Amino acid sequence: MSRADVIAVRGARTHNLKGVDVDLPRDSLVVLTGVSGSGKSSLAFDTVFVEGRRRYVESLSGHARRFLDQFERPDVDEVDGLPPTVALDQRGGDPGPRSTVGTLTEIQDSLRLLFSRLGLPHCPKCGLPIRSQTPEQMAASILALPAGTRLLLLAPLVRGRKGAHAEVFQAIRRAGLIRARVDGEVVEIDEPPKLAKTKLHAIDAVVDRLVIRDGVAPRLAESLGLALKLADGLATVAVDSGGTWEDRTMSVHHACPDCGVSIPALEPRGYSFNSPQGACPTCEGLGVVVPDPEAPEEVPCPACHGARLRPEALAARVGGKSIAEVGDLAVDAARAFFDGLTFAEEDDAAVAAPLLREIRGRLRFLADVGLGYLTLARAAGTLSGGELQRARLATQLGSELVGVCYVLDEPTAGLHPSDTDRLLQNLRKLRDLGNSLLIVEHDESIIRAADWLVDVGPGAGPSGGEIVAVGPLERIAESPASLTGRHLRGEGSRARGRSDRLARSSGWLTIEGATVHNLRDIDAKIPLGALTCVTGVSGSGKSTLVFDVLARAFRRRERGDARPAPELGAVAGWDSLIGMVEVDQSPIGRTPRSTPATFTGAFDEIRRVFAKARESRIRGYGPARFSFNARGGRCEVCRGLGKRRVPMRLLPDLFVVCEECRGQRFNRPTLEVLFKEKSIGDVLDMRVDEAIDFFGAQPRVLPGLRSLQDVGVGYLTLGQSGATLSGGEAQRVKLAAHLSRPESGDLLYILDEPTTGLHFADVNRLLGVLDRLADRGNTLVVIEHNLDVIAAADWVLDMGPDAGAQGGRIVAIGPPAQIAASPDSPTGPYLKHVIDATEGDPGHATPDP
Ligand code: ADP
Ligand code: ADP
Ligand code: ZN
Ligand code: ZN
Repeated sequence: MSRADVIAVRGARTHNLKGVDVDLPRDSLVVLTGVSGSGKSSLAFDTVFVEGRRRYVESLSGHARRFLDQFERPDVDEVDGLPPTVALDQRGGDPGPRSTVGTLTEIQDSLRLLFSRLGLPHCPKCGLPIRSQTPEQMAASILALPAGTRLLLLAPLVRGRKGAHAEVFQAIRRAGLIRARVDGEVVEIDEPPKLAKTKLHAIDAVVDRLVIRDGVAPRLAESLGLALKLADGLATVAVDSGGTWEDRTMSVHHACPDCGVSIPALEPRGYSFNSPQGACPTCEGLGVVVPDPEAPEEVPCPACHGARLRPEALAARVGGKSIAEVGDLAVDAARAFFDGLTFAEEDDAAVAAPLLREIRGRLRFLADVGLGYLTLARAAGTLSGGELQRARLATQLGSELVGVCYVLDEPTAGLHPSDTDRLLQNLRKLRDLGNSLLIVEHDESIIRAADWLVDVGPGAGPSGGEIVAVGPLERIAESPASLTGRHLRGEGSRARGRSDRLARSSGWLTIEGATVHNLRDIDAKIPLGALTCVTGVSGSGKSTLVFDVLARAFRRRERGDARPAPELGAVAGWDSLIGMVEVDQSPIGRTPRSTPATFTGAFDEIRRVFAKARESRIRGYGPARFSFNARGGRCEVCRGLGKRRVPMRLLPDLFVVCEECRGQRFNRPTLEVLFKEKSIGDVLDMRVDEAIDFFGAQPRVLPGLRSLQDVGVGYLTLGQSGATLSGGEAQRVKLAAHLSRPESGDLLYILDEPTTGLHFADVNRLLGVLDRLADRGNTLVVIEHNLDVIAAADWVLDMGPDAGAQGGRIVAIGPPAQIAASPDSPTGPYLKHVIDATEGDPGHATPDP
């Protein structure tokens, strides 16, 4: 490779990297592998991407640049040949409460333009189509009535308003007119009826009485002009049809001819729920309201029904659908709708063409990354990390940028093996457009498809940080030093003895007839005291079954909530379960102050150790002195965070190290207390693995730390902010917190893809933890795509067969071997492959359920 074709990294020392020199080929699919904590993200995100971002900021002017010095500068001697970089990670910042799949993918922008330019306005009150007309168009439509038609030309002045309206009659008189139509009766203006003040009235000035015949046009034009002037751009023609009058009101403005509701001309801003011109005034564009502040539960906004826009924007239609109705279509259905959409008028078609091209293209990319089941209106906050990342990937596919370096973090997270091929095709498409891809990934099929592999390791934290092997697949597979290579050669210790938990299970937890989201005819059973995996393509309904049905039903049971919830169906067989532990991928704790050590309780014990130190006893410092969450011992400049937030426009907020404590979080006197020559601040900078050695003689500190190590996050530092953990890491820290407490068993554990971010070598360790929990008598329900975990489960619920409306059923149920043999299960063939590859375990029996 010549240097022109590579991103050349020299002397990278970010985090645990040990002066890494590596050439990453450009315009290629480069995959970084290695155990978690080995330094893959430190190389891809914290070195290559951060350097790319720094160069971008350098090219800006003004506000952002002033902070350039404080911008994280990766610890690297040189990065050569770096194209503009875009990071697509799973944290990727909070998408914000108003963000949806449509806004995220920018499809919403095109929809807004389409609806504001070509939407046919309809009255939000009565649903009638609304058109503005010029006086000439009005006259022409009146003259088109059959000759001999008798009509009244009216100026509508009062419609359904209470009052005596004396001033209205006066105005009519002053205009030189002699008749009015009051509540349907034509009266002489000199003898106006006395109107009841408390009643609703309708008053029109009678401007002219006409019969349609040749030569009437000039008089009609003059009268029409007067009517429009009197009624502010409105005119009503009342046609005599044998004694009854039929009204037709016309407007030069956008206004409902019937209700008079006037509609501002549609414009793109009126279609943005982020703009005051567009946002529903009732919910301010959020789509939900909290009607009862005592019981803060969100309900759909009564005005816009969750569609977030002003009523008049919602009333307009394109192809017979409102923008809200389009938003409620799943991507696949929206594609069919837009493929069939045509415009009769040539002008309209010309306006629509570029917008439709954009919309159709972007919808296709969403389908291509396996998200065809999502609706455009789906709130981004309800997407999983993997879905969010793939939605962002679809946006990039749509942007057709060239010459960009994309850095991705495990794009297969949450993806069923059957969807991985399609994802790969799209990654290749992005490459073939002329982009470079740098992907941190554990999935074997992505690893096998890479143009170039960079294996980082050999171990985690200080035992990692080196390039173990680099090159095409064959070279990694031959490397004796690479754990990834060993696995690729099939030498990994995949085989696991099967447990006899299913045979010992004390009963079944059953779910029948649940109908939440896409679920139908769900008839599921889950063995108590065993490990169950829920599998299926993404969008098939796994999270819905596990979180929105099972967990919700359990919480209702715990609260004693008896309000009817028929969508949950009937859940039974759970009498022996004494509690539920939801271990999801949301951040640990509610603040950035939570860290692995505080969350598992290890830090409480560490503070006690420091309070017992000689210096503490002399000074009278108790454990509270060593808390960074309370006044006393902590640094008050940064309030114990060790860093300060600098808000940035355009870019995410920037954190800079606190100048007072230099990131040590505590004030000077507190830091003077030493235990084994380390201050409390030093201890927070230790990795869990190091801290276990360091506190080896302090038995009370160890359980929390050990369980962190057991779940595979021994490489985290004790003080690492919860906000910097990936979803998978956060989940494992939560799991560790439960492991370290003596618990009785009989708990229901719910986990969401706990292997996210784990290397093959780490998966076995995690399985050990799950086994331990199940062996203690707990019931585990785990959503998982990792075939090694599925193969090791006692029981599998396979959902599908496909996503969204094509999913929501149980397609196969039973022990893994039974799923592998099932002709209906999309997971079966993949699972069979893994089970066959695993050396037979003669001892295990597969009892019939
Ligand atoms: P991987 O991506 O291979 O899982 P990382 O690059 O995230 O590994 O981590 C490599 C090492 O760097 C680990 O020891 C980790 O604890 C450390 N590390 C990661 N992020 C930070 C950070 N923000 N500050 C300090 N150390 C970090
Ligand atoms: P999985 O966990 O298998 O990926 P989900 O349970 O998340 O699947 O989704 C099943 C179906 O329910 C999909 O069509 C999805 O779009 C829909 N769905 C999931 N969550 C929500 C939600 N919060 N609001 C509306 N629809 C949802
Ligand atoms: Zn609303
Ligand atoms: Zn400070």
